[in-house]
Amino acid sequence: MKELSEVLKDWEAVIGLEIHTELTTLDTKMFCGCKIGHDDEPNTNVCPVCLGLPGALPVPNERAIEYIVKAGLATNCEIQKHSMFYRKHYFYPDMAKNFQTTQGPVAFAMHGRLDLEVTGRGAAERPECAFGDAEAESLASASANAVGLSTAMSRDLPEGMASGAGSSVKPDHAGAVSTMSQNDSAPEEAAEGATSALAGMSGYDTANLAVPVRHEDGSYTVPIRILRIHMEEDAAKMVHVGGEEGRIGGAAESLIDYNRCGTPLIELVTEPDLRTPEEARLFMEKLRRIFLTLGISDCSMEKGSMRCDGNVSLRRRGSSKLGTKTELKNLNSFKALHDGLAYEICRQAEVLEEGGEIYQETRHWEPSRKRTVVMRTKETADDYRLFPDPDLAPFDLSDAFIEHCRAEIPELPDAKRDRYERDFGIKRADAEQIAGDPETAAFFEAAAGAVAAGKEAQTVANLIVNELPAHLRAAGCTLAESGLEPAQVASLAKLLASDAISSNQGHEVFEAMAQTGDDPEKIVDERGMRQVSDTGALQAYVDEVLANCPDQAQQYRDGNQKVLGFLVGQCMRASKGQGNPKLFNELLRQALS
Ligand SMILES: [Zn+2]
Repeated sequence: MKELSEVLKDWEAVIGLEIHTELTTLDTKMFCGCKIGHDDEPNTNVCPVCLGLPGALPVPNERAIEYIVKAGLATNCEIQKHSMFYRKHYFYPDMAKNFQTTQGPVAFAMHGRLDLEVTGRGAAERPECAFGDAEAESLASASANAVGLSTAMSRDLPEGMASGAGSSVKPDHAGAVSTMSQNDSAPEEAAEGATSALAGMSGYDTANLAVPVRHEDGSYTVPIRILRIHMEEDAAKMVHVGGEEGRIGGAAESLIDYNRCGTPLIELVTEPDLRTPEEARLFMEKLRRIFLTLGISDCSMEKGSMRCDGNVSLRRRGSSKLGTKTELKNLNSFKALHDGLAYEICRQAEVLEEGGEIYQETRHWEPSRKRTVVMRTKETADDYRLFPDPDLAPFDLSDAFIEHCRAEIPELPDAKRDRYERDFGIKRADAEQIAGDPETAAFFEAAAGAVAAGKEAQTVANLIVNELPAHLRAAGCTLAESGLEPAQVASLAKLLASDAISSNQGHEVFEAMAQTGDDPEKIVDERGMRQVSDTGALQAYVDEVLANCPDQAQQYRDGNQKVLGFLVGQCMRASKGQGNPKLFNELLRQALS
């Protein structure tokens, strides 16, 4: 297979994401009072509602609605005041009532966007040709074409429309029938609609198109539109015993744990605005940081409380017609998301270049084998016979409720990053990383608040970005469990920033302070580590070394700059490693000039 960079020169990858997030920080489930506790003894947190027993009536969890409204506001969505719950029917043991309660054409949050800053090597994934005017056309045609992902349609589709009533959708909007409102005639109508939507592209709303803006250093900013965030409930967890990697194929028996069934879940669907695996990865990371900051979920990709599916199709650069897309599952880490998409793009390119055809299918990413394999083939659109849930009244969110949610939103990661960069004078990349995790951010602010902005604050940032994660990984504990105090990190940063100790010694002191809980000042004094930065004391070593190395001194005077490193080394040796190397450097230059 060709490399991704080669493929993306000829082919445009059109990527959309669907991201499920369990609202794990809530106490109770979506429609009943059962506790959310996935690790508890199986089938202990259940009741007639989440077991789907006849006659049981659901009652929506108001705090879950608060959480989704916050998620919508934090991702620049419009909050829909009037929406309702729908039943999505399917027959499978992980949902005992045989339908999942979800939302219809109107979701609580719609039409949002997040701006991605793509830098460094990641920025190079988007080829030169994918900027400028061509990109604006590409985005317009992808959006108009994307079945199930159009802004225009969901805006006009009336809420409360049952499955089968889709024929009332105007042809211009049919190309965009939402996945939630797929109906009997959807496939044909959608195909027809896509063509007419494209033909009438002048009528397509291009005002908010997500055209990337490129910066001088090769990085770029690209807005990614969010189609919707809707509320639904999670299904039960199934464990297949005896099958390979816990899969159903070859399993001897299947076990069901209904503890997870009914857990509030929000699903975010992006417009197909993403063009590289790196953008997809960054979007997911950014969303995770926002949700962590909102405190609505533990956002663990490992445990599955945040899950991502990727849709990807290819088309020749310059073409306005979308290719057939495949859906990728099991993207359960940022690396899997990036690598799975990258593989799938290259695979599709190979098939297409050999004259083959891409089938609309769901594929499973196998990280260990670095490939995607077919899970199931989709012949036609799923028919879920979606209709409004008669047990749940339509929602009318009041302005007061929405404003109450808005007022509770804490400072979001982007704003925090900008403030750290501005107020503490630290590097943007470090600020971004620190601001993304609320616990780390609070620790940083406490430590950086105790030192001067600029060099000292940057040293605090360096310790938190580099030393701290390495230490926590090795110790196998969280920041809270580590017992580390912001004051210790501030004190260590001061020692490093003033060159009282070297960076190597800083590493040693970090480990010592984590183990003993002592202040770095004390550790440095006890171990006699303090670097000598008194120029008077250092000058004596410099004089001694220059007297002992006249040849090297002459070489430097003759223009050989490199020999300075040797002389600094001799000074360090003479001072038994206690001299400040930067000062030796300066003093030697002065003496030899
Ligand atoms: Zn229950």
